Amino acid sequence: MESRERKEMNRRCFLRQSMIGIGVVAVGGSVVFPYNGPSGAFGYPAIPNATMVVMHNSALCIGCRRCEVACSTMREGASQPSRARVFIDRRYQESIWTDGQFTGETCRQCEEAPCLRACPAEAIKVDEKTKARYVDLKVCNGLGNCQRACPFNMVNYFEDERKARKCDLCGGAPECVKQCPATALRYVKWDPRYDDLD
Ligand code: SF4
Ligand code: SF4
Repeated sequence: MESRERKEMNRRCFLRQSMIGIGVVAVGGSVVFPYNGPSGAFGYPAIPNATMVVMHNSALCIGCRRCEVACSTMREGASQPSRARVFIDRRYQESIWTDGQFTGETCRQCEEAPCLRACPAEAIKVDEKTKARYVDLKVCNGLGNCQRACPFNMVNYFEDERKARKCDLCGGAPECVKQCPATALRYVKWDPRYDDLD
C-alpha cells in the first residue's frame, strides 16, 4: 500500500494536472476529456453544492477516536478506525515540532469535487437530499482515481474489496458527530471556503 505521504503527493499532482487540462487525450482523431472535467472552464455541468458538512475543531478534540469507531461500526459493521471516513491524527506523529493537538480530517464536500470529476465510471454521485458526494458501490470499479484526486486525502480505498469509501454525511445524520463526547465535530452549513482548509 502507498504511504500516506506518497499518496498525498500523487493526489496533489493529479489534481494539479487535472485542473490545467493535462488530462486531455486524443481518441479517434478528436480531442476528448477522459473524465468529467472541471465545471465552468470546459462547459461541463456544475455540481450542486452540498447543504451541510462535518467540521472538526482541534481545540476541543481529546483524541479518543470514538468518531472513527462510530463511523466504521455504523457504515462497515466493524469497529475498525482504518475503515472510517473521518480521520484523527496527532501532529506529533508528523513532526517533532508539535503543539500536541489532535488534528481531525473530514471531507469538505468540495464545490468542484475532484473525486467525482476524476471517476471515469461516474461512481461518485450527489445525494438528492444533502447533496453530499457519495460513492455508489455498485458502480465503483476500484480504479482509485478518486483517492488520488482528493487534495485532502479523504477517500478511503479498501484494497481488499477494491472499492472506495468517502463521507456521505450518513444521509443527513452523521454518526461521528453524534458520538463525539467533546463536541469537537459539528454538522454545519456548507461554505465554499471549507475547500481551502488544510
Ligand atoms: S470523537 Fe470527538 S473528541 Fe474523540 S477523536 Fe473524534 S473528534 Fe476528537
Ligand atoms: S473526498 Fe476529497 S475531493 Fe471529494 S468532496 Fe471530499 S474532500 Fe473533496
